[in-house]
Amino acid sequence: QRAQAADDYAQMQQVARYFSHQLRHHENSARVIDYLKGRGLSGDIVKQFQIGYAPPQWDGVLSTFGQKSAARTQLRDLKLINRNDQGREYDFFRDRIMFPIRDRRGRVVGFGGRILEGDGPKYLNSPETRIFHKGRELFGFYEARQAHRQLPQAVIVEGYMDVVALAQHGIDYAVASLGTATTTEQLQMLFRATSRVVCCYDGDRAGRDAAWRALENALPLLKDGLELAFLFLPDGEDPDSLVRQEGQQKFSQRLQGAQSFTDYFFGHLIDSLDMSLANDAGKSNLLKQAKPLIERVASEFYRELMLERLAQLLGRETSQLNSHFQRPQQSRY
Ligand code: ATP
Ligand code: MN
Ligand code: MN
Ligand code: MN
Repeated sequence: QRAQAADDYAQMQQVARYFSHQLRHHENSARVIDYLKGRGLSGDIVKQFQIGYAPPQWDGVLSTFGQKSAARTQLRDLKLINRNDQGREYDFFRDRIMFPIRDRRGRVVGFGGRILEGDGPKYLNSPETRIFHKGRELFGFYEARQAHRQLPQAVIVEGYMDVVALAQHGIDYAVASLGTATTTEQLQMLFRATSRVVCCYDGDRAGRDAAWRALENALPLLKDGLELAFLFLPDGEDPDSLVRQEGQQKFSQRLQGAQSFTDYFFGHLIDSLDMSLANDAGKSNLLKQAKPLIERVASEFYRELMLERLAQLLGRETSQLNSHFQRPQQSRY
């Protein structure tokens, strides 16, 4: 089984090299490189992330790597090729910009592919495979660790392009969770590498929802000395669009000024309350919403701070609230 895994990683690496070779040598090369240049990316950054190109034909990967039947089985397992009902096999990624997704040790475990233009979903990600588990990987983590032994901080964004554009502008410690909510496991990976994590999702509804889910998933990890912050972007912007408009310095200032998780926590709960805090019902509702979340916070010190804030908001003494709260169970993390 270990031999098979080693072989899977080798195959993925070969395919990443193939895509990166196609980027420079396919007949569509000029068009693809123009697209990347148009998005502000230099050749160096393209190389650093080993960005590639999946050619438009149905049998690019298939005919290059799938001569033998055993190889085709493996390519199917790795979701690099599909088989239709008639038994015909064909490439999974076609005519897309390819982003290799590496695990923390640098092994390629999956790909994200962006359409250049035209029909079809804008992004296509490798489905889960025996070596690719989405909730456990972070695009850009390996590359960030290559740039810094100790990350100064980590920025979590939504998209591949956000990670790459930030790196292009010198903010080379951004990572993307892979099209899903940021998981506790992913946050854990980051808090092992740095003590400050900033969530910076797109300035839209989906981005704001993602921020709250990330906060919930981070609560059991919030130990003393760790900092979680939230940077909300102007409507319609994402980290890529904003860093290209504003440049590194302004974006870094935004990161420094990101909202603390307690500010965001209470701000969000109060905003989503459909009653006024001036009423007793509003107050008891805030207590009801906040209590189970506060109890999940790992650090006793953070829990105390949050209790004090809650007491203030409710117009009570902290000691009056204590009876509502139990000591949490030992955190798994
Ligand atoms: P771009 O700037 O290239 O247009 P983006 O990175 O801003 O793209 P978003 O639409 O904001 O893209 O999506 C953010 C991320 O969500 C993508 O990078 C991708 O990981 C994931 N994603 C978006 N659309 C899809 C999709 N149709 N299927 C799967 N994942 C997707
Ligand atoms: Mn978005
Ligand atoms: Mn976006
Ligand atoms: Mn974008």
